[in-house]
Amino acid sequence: MITTATPDSKTPTQEYIEFSEKYGTPNYHPLPVVVSEAKGVWVKDPEGCKYLDMLSSYSALNHGHRHPEIIKALVDQAKKVTLVSRAFHNDQLGLFLKELSELTGFPRALPMNSGAEAVETAVKTARKWGCLKKGLPQEKAEIIVAANNFHGRTVTIVSFSSDEQYRKDFGPFTPGFKIVPFGDAEALKAAITTSTVAFLVEPIQAEAGILIPPPGYLQKVREICTQNNVLLMLDEIQTGMGRTGKMFAFEHEGIRPDVLILGKALGGGAMPVSAACASDEILGVYKPGDHGSTFGGNPLACAVARAAIRVLKSENLVERSAQMGEYLMGRLRSLKSGYVKEIRGRGLLVGIELHPAAGGARRFCEDLMRRGMLCKETHEHVIRLAPPLVITEKEIDWAFSRLKKVLGT
Ligand SMILES: *Cc1c(COP(=O)(O)O)cnc(C)c1O
Repeated sequence: MITTATPDSKTPTQEYIEFSEKYGTPNYHPLPVVVSEAKGVWVKDPEGCKYLDMLSSYSALNHGHRHPEIIKALVDQAKKVTLVSRAFHNDQLGLFLKELSELTGFPRALPMNSGAEAVETAVKTARKWGCLKKGLPQEKAEIIVAANNFHGRTVTIVSFSSDEQYRKDFGPFTPGFKIVPFGDAEALKAAITTSTVAFLVEPIQAEAGILIPPPGYLQKVREICTQNNVLLMLDEIQTGMGRTGKMFAFEHEGIRPDVLILGKALGGGAMPVSAACASDEILGVYKPGDHGSTFGGNPLACAVARAAIRVLKSENLVERSAQMGEYLMGRLRSLKSGYVKEIRGRGLLVGIELHPAAGGARRFCEDLMRRGMLCKETHEHVIRLAPPLVITEKEIDWAFSRLKKVLGT
């Protein structure tokens, strides 16, 4: 759906892309589409072409674009007060924390903005907990993580990435992390020492290509952590808030983590809102001045996050995610394609892994874009489908007809 133009008359799309390539930093490789308007599952470019958003900003748009109740909360709050810092209280933070506690079942939370900040918060919390509650000496705490993890982009977080590109040229790194294979509970058990304070893991590795661990993995991991007095910290920034057909992915195995890390859809697609949620004992290790964020817990973000939580419940988006996910998987399984190696998914978090001979997922995503459907390759060979949870069967059929044209044989 790229509009053609003569050499001296650029389309708005071409001009906007040129500016961001000229004045920005080449740390992304976006599809050549400019979004200038959006509503629900649909977005529009400046030339008026419509696209179905099958990525949802990596699950930050679970509620769809510009959900009316979330936008109303944003606008109403913007007219009252937007920021006070944590030097003073505000009238939204306490209500947000209370409603978040009711949602997660964790008595306390520490609010931040980006997902990476919430992961950093969890790391700092586990280390401090290790010193205060396990009696570890200073600078000895060790955190175990899984290979192929994605937890964000700060120096500390890439310190424990197993992806060469995320680390190369960015050292020196933060010590105190150990990597074990994902999905292998015995490897975790073997890696634990008296210095281990936490195991940090995603319940489903989304960025790694929608990797679902073997059944029972989280239960075993939970047991091992409990037996060794090690905190289980689940990064549900992408899998949480209904994405996998449960409010949180840990519910699929009937366990609870010690620390739950949330972000992305917690901000309703409108504000960066993240949090680390845990018990009194764990978050009680902090005293004033230990940690913080100027924007964390600001009233605008809190009002939006409260609406995001409300809408998830009032519109039964978790059930929708389970139902629509099943419907989408059913359609995908009927796909006859020589390119497809495996289809994996839980709820509306779905990965289509292509055979290496298909030449990479990128060209298929570009082809889908030209046919009005937006999705993105994850790593080289996986097409990730993660539409807003408000998507309908009819819209899934529409997307599937495009996928069939592009992948079908
Ligand atoms: C997106 C993501 C992060 C990082 O969140 P940012 O808001 O980009 O910092 C961390 N962990 C997981 C699992 C994610 O999907």
